[in-house]
Amino acid sequence: MLHTGSRKGRKKLTREQAIGRANAKRRRWVRNLLIEKHRGLCHLCGELVDLRDESGPRYATVDHIVPLSKGGVDALANLALAHASCNQRKGARVPSQFDHDDASIGTELAS
Ligand SMILES: [Zn+2]
Repeated sequence: MLHTGSRKGRKKLTREQAIGRANAKRRRWVRNLLIEKHRGLCHLCGELVDLRDESGPRYATVDHIVPLSKGGVDALANLALAHASCNQRKGARVPSQFDHDDASIGTELAS
């Protein structure tokens, strides 16, 4: 009887799981709306997304135009279609790196 632990609660969803499923369903719905709205084009590079490229770089993701961390809202007006790779590149922009580059260019010009 000690071996049944891993299967425990498999059928009954916890509150978090239920919310997670509802969110996933909403995200898919939003993504489909955006695919229609943008005619399947990534708003960052302007090329077609590929829904068959699941978990690949050209897969369609939903991008927040103004990031939530910068006060953007989770509403359709603030959402756009983007490739997984473009979305990631945008998200990976670390301000300190840019500051560093700008600073080194600035000092070169100044000297
Ligand atoms: Zn793109």
